[in-house]
Amino acid sequence: MSDLFPDLESTQPPVVITGLHKSFGDNEVLKGIDLTVTQGEVVCVIGPSGSGKSTLLRCVNLLEQPTKGSIKLLGAEMTDPDVELNQVRAHVGMVFQSFNLFPNMTALGNCIIGQRQVLKRSKAEAIEIAKKNLAMVGLSDRMDYVPAKLSGGQQQRVAIARALSMDPKVMLFDEPTAALDPELVGDVLAVMRDLAHAGMTMMVVTHEMSFARDVSDRTIFMDGGVIVEEGASQELITAPKERRTQIFLKRVL
Ligand code: ADP
Ligand code: MG
Repeated sequence: MSDLFPDLESTQPPVVITGLHKSFGDNEVLKGIDLTVTQGEVVCVIGPSGSGKSTLLRCVNLLEQPTKGSIKLLGAEMTDPDVELNQVRAHVGMVFQSFNLFPNMTALGNCIIGQRQVLKRSKAEAIEIAKKNLAMVGLSDRMDYVPAKLSGGQQQRVAIARALSMDPKVMLFDEPTAALDPELVGDVLAVMRDLAHAGMTMMVVTHEMSFARDVSDRTIFMDGGVIVEEGASQELITAPKERRTQIFLKRVL
C-alpha cells in the first residue's frame, strides 16, 4: 500500500458505502444503499436493466456525485470536497462495457500511457509492467496491434491489462462482457477469474450468472434502486429467498 492510504490495509475495508442516494432531477435512482467490500472480496451486482447498478458503480469513484450518503474508497471520503479525487482514482481500475481504448495507440501504448502520465514511471519500467500485464491477459503476441485490429474480447483484455498496469487496489467492472460476441466472453471471464483468485478486490456488475455463482464471494441483487437481497453467491443464485430475486433469476438463468 502506498503512503497515500496508510491506514487502509490495517483498519478499513477498501469500499464502504453508507446511506447512498442518487437522483437525476426528480428520478431517484439509488434509494439508500449500504455496502461494504472487504479486502480481497469479489462482489457481483446483478439486477434488471435500469435498477441503478451502473450508477452505483459510478458513484464509488465519484464519476457520479451522490445526492446523499457517504462513499469511503481506500480510506478516503469521496464526498469530501477536499479529497483529491484523481489521486484516489489512480488506485482504482475501471473497466466498462465499451472498451474505451485509445484508438491510435497499440495495445502496449494503451498500457503505458497512464503509468507515464499519472504514476510518472520511467519508460523502461512502464514497458516492463505493461508487457507483464498483457502476458497475464494472454496477449503477448498482440502488443503491437491497434484496437481496430483486435477482436472485442482482445480489446477488453487490453483494457483490463491497462487497468492492472496502474497497480489498482480495487477493480470495478461494469458489464465487461455485455458487448462481446458470445464466443469471446469466456476469455474475458477467465482473466477476471484469475484476478479474483489472485486476491484482487473487485466489484462486478454482470449478467453472467455462472461467473457470479462460481467466482464471486457475495452477490447483491438490486431492483428499483435498493438492494433487495444479498448473500453468499452460491446460495443467492441457487436458492434466492426474495420473490423479486426469484423472478429475476428465473428470467436470466
Ligand atoms: P443499470 O445499470 O442497472 O441498467 P443505471 O444505473 O444505468 O441502471 O440507470 C438507472 C436509472 O438512472 C435509469 O432510469 C437511467 O435512465 C437513469 N440514469 C442513469 N444515468 C443518468 C444520467 N446521467 N442522467 C439521467 N438519468 C440517468
Ligand atoms: Mg448498467
